[in-house]
Amino acid sequence: MKHGLTDVSSCAKALLPENKAVCRLRYAITLQQGLRRITLNPMQSTASLLVFSDLDGTLLDHETYGWEPARPAISKLKQAGVPLILASSKTAAEMVPLLRDMGLEGVPAIVENGGGVIGLNTGQDEKALTYADIRRALDDMPRDLRAHFSGFGDMQRDDVSAATGLSQDAAVSAKRRAFSEPGLWSGDDEMRARFLHLLAEQGIAASEGGRFLTLSSGRTKADGMARIIAHYKPACTIALGDAPNDTEMLEAADFGVIVKNPHRPPLPRLAGEDAGRIRRTDAPGPAGWNTAVLALIEQIMGSQEDG
Ligand SMILES: [Mg+2]
Repeated sequence: MKHGLTDVSSCAKALLPENKAVCRLRYAITLQQGLRRITLNPMQSTASLLVFSDLDGTLLDHETYGWEPARPAISKLKQAGVPLILASSKTAAEMVPLLRDMGLEGVPAIVENGGGVIGLNTGQDEKALTYADIRRALDDMPRDLRAHFSGFGDMQRDDVSAATGLSQDAAVSAKRRAFSEPGLWSGDDEMRARFLHLLAEQGIAASEGGRFLTLSSGRTKADGMARIIAHYKPACTIALGDAPNDTEMLEAADFGVIVKNPHRPPLPRLAGEDAGRIRRTDAPGPAGWNTAVLALIEQIMGSQEDG
């Protein structure tokens, strides 16, 4: 099978020993073309490499939410013109200050666990299930069921703050939702099954994580990733994450990095680990992130010079 210059799999193959010699030249050309485009046009719509990253427990420290240890790798990505795409359960309102702090304004980001993408100027996402759709479906529920679900939209700022541990200001940003509705369920299992069945009939999925039952279209971060890849058409992608809701994204990337998070059970072994496409960090959070991204950039960009 013939591969084009921008064939995604050529990136992964380029770094496997048996394919190194064959793929290096093609890869180097792709990368150089991509970087030249980026240098000429900072508002690029193409990039040779994209990096997708989860936030909490991955790029942000599990406890402090700091990302300082990852600064060297973030700077390196910026120098190389490689877009760093944040992918999180956070809302756009929560994401925007982080994008600003990290100097990532103008770069797309995946919000609400893949429910939507911000900063991608490709027009309306016609198929997106909106927050208003979810709230409408809740309003149409039989009263006995509806009474047992308390979504962020039903709660006051102080309730969201108490339920999540967020500050009051942060709770306001968490309440500004566009694609999904987390809430607390207080009914029994039989009612819960009826509740979920009625939502499913409206195309609404529910996922459980921690204390919350989150209602959404059922999209994952990998769906947001696919939209961004269709826009940039990169030759190569890297994804980093620490939790089950990152799995699809890690599997979809040319290179996946499972960032160690000692605060949760380790992810089960993923298929890509046997093939050498997915690796694990030794250090947790942003320190592990930094080491892994610097090593991958060195491997990928290095193939330009010594290919
Ligand atoms: Mg995480």
